[in-house]
Amino acid sequence: MKRKIVVGNWKMNGSLAFNEALLKALVEKIPKALSLDIIVCSPYPYLFQVQSFLKKSPIRWGAQNVAKFESGAFTGEVSVSMLKEFGSSYVIIGHSERSTAYCESDENIATKFMMVKKAAMTPILCVGETLIEREAGIMEKVISKQLDTIIKMYGEEIFDQTVIAYEPIWAIGSDMAASPEQAQAMHHFIREKLSLHTNVSKSLKIIYGGSVNPQNALQLFSMPDVDGGLLGRASLNASDFQSICHSAEI
Ligand code: PEP
Repeated sequence: MKRKIVVGNWKMNGSLAFNEALLKALVEKIPKALSLDIIVCSPYPYLFQVQSFLKKSPIRWGAQNVAKFESGAFTGEVSVSMLKEFGSSYVIIGHSERSTAYCESDENIATKFMMVKKAAMTPILCVGETLIEREAGIMEKVISKQLDTIIKMYGEEIFDQTVIAYEPIWAIGSDMAASPEQAQAMHHFIREKLSLHTNVSKSLKIIYGGSVNPQNALQLFSMPDVDGGLLGRASLNASDFQSICHSAEI
């Protein structure tokens, strides 16, 4: 069985005081020796604070987005090298809240994915379908298209040592998580699609995101192709986060 991974996405939440209380509680509650990988993705301005609190803990940290360029005249953007300077080891790419609100194209997402890998950090690629797409029965086609852009641009091997988060858009922030069977079916589909390369199928982790909570985590994580979770709201509450991490322990 693969070591599971639980990622907290704070989104645009927090303050110096709120983060300090949350990070202190996480360090206190989460055991020093872990049988899973735990990652916290904070807003950019708090990366230094997160690094200060977590550097001596087994919890890793990262960002929720990154620029597709290395440096230069790109007002408001943050580069991979800047994230690395603050010890980030993971970057969420293509979250649906970004793709919808900022019209991020699949090509942009693919370039960012490659930039993160090139900088020796781990990209966490979000893929997922809308409710209309699921009801129309075309969810596999939609996810395939999202993956195909990256495959076409960089080859399937780029998925070696990376994380894909299956996040059905209808489940995010909705209290209507996918059922364990729905998650399993899509994770299996993604794994099969990327199974041509042995390295990729061995090292790729596919995690589920969308209304994961302490009540449904264990069932979701018990599915054979679910390697962990990406959490929004539950990552802002230390007890919920810890309880979900506990459900992911092998
Ligand atoms: C998310 O936005 O990635 C997410 C999974 O949010 P929530 O857990 O709040 O549904």
